[in-house]
Amino acid sequence: RSLVVAKIELKNVAHSYAPDVENPEYALKKCNLSWKDGGRYAVLGPSGCGKTTMLNIMSGLVTPSEGTIKFDGVDITNMSTAERNIAQVFQFPVIYNTMTVAQNLGFPLLCRNYPKEVITKKVDQVAQTLGLENLLNLRATKLTADQKQLISLGRGLVREDVAAILMDEPLTVIDPDLKFRLRRRLKEINELYKSTLIYVTHDQNEAMTFAENILVMDHGKIVQVGTPLELFERPKTTFVGYFIGSPAMNMLKAEIKGKNVVSIGDTSFKTGTDLSKVKSKNVKLGIRSEFVELHDKNTDNCISVKIDKVDDFGNFQLVSARHGMSPIKAKVGRDLAVPAGDAWMKFPDNRCCVYSNEVLV
Ligand code: ADP
Ligand code: MG
Repeated sequence: RSLVVAKIELKNVAHSYAPDVENPEYALKKCNLSWKDGGRYAVLGPSGCGKTTMLNIMSGLVTPSEGTIKFDGVDITNMSTAERNIAQVFQFPVIYNTMTVAQNLGFPLLCRNYPKEVITKKVDQVAQTLGLENLLNLRATKLTADQKQLISLGRGLVREDVAAILMDEPLTVIDPDLKFRLRRRLKEINELYKSTLIYVTHDQNEAMTFAENILVMDHGKIVQVGTPLELFERPKTTFVGYFIGSPAMNMLKAEIKGKNVVSIGDTSFKTGTDLSKVKSKNVKLGIRSEFVELHDKNTDNCISVKIDKVDDFGNFQLVSARHGMSPIKAKVGRDLAVPAGDAWMKFPDNRCCVYSNEVLV
């Protein structure tokens, strides 16, 4: 494959759809990012947080009201989508109904005057990869929604010169079973073709199973970029802690008591975080339910709880408890005998995340 672009960078990019009013609202707040060639990324966040805006800025459908975009160090902020060599797959498939599947797949190459033999070969190859080889001569009108979406995807893949393939919630129209297979397929394609894939979704499971790196967005802001493991273990804001993981991260109101000690009511916890530079006393202690241990005796870093409910998920048990008014959830092994009523929960110090003003210390 010809390496057309090695690096996509966003420099001080921000976007407002109405930049000329007083105090404009920003659909995308100022960000600096660089995307590695061949990487597999997800952009994750709730509806309205600016994911599509970000993607359209990269593809050229939207010109950012501030900042520059560079491909390999060259400013391409004012270039069209075609000039950027970006392939984009939208939420709903865009295909030509009067053409056959093969013609649809080959169209981007035909537009670029590739020789006929090359087009045929490339179309066959991509059709194989996507499992469309038996449909090549069919008119596109005859296809189901998910077959149509596969073709949109295939049109991105036939081109060897694309800088990146951008996908905006591309599997929305596809049934759950096929979704899983398609995500795997996309991963294989990324490994095979080494094309940069950027996948937008509001679904944490899609993002976590697909991407090597995830950008989490909240209200137009990029709040964390990290691997699925990093997002799980050290969420940078309470929002990421709530948004990622199931159940959401436990968050308890706490007070700073010492260099690495916080308290919840009368109970003190060591946290493994240096808190000496934190200005406010009031913080939140975050801990994943996966890391909370259930004990029948008080040891260090334990808090007393009342158990409300135990849900058996087969491979684990989800224990819902309370300390005073604060709910705490723990995921424990399937074989653990969970006591009824009073118990102790331990927060291992290296698993405690401390948040000051909703940001990880
Ligand atoms: P997402 O894809 O995460 O759902 P969008 O990027 O579509 O988010 O939208 C981000 C914000 O920008 C939203 O508040 C949305 O209403 C606004 N917005 C999106 N497109 C336009 C537009 N063409 N004109 C004005 N506002 C828009
Ligand atoms: Mg969107």
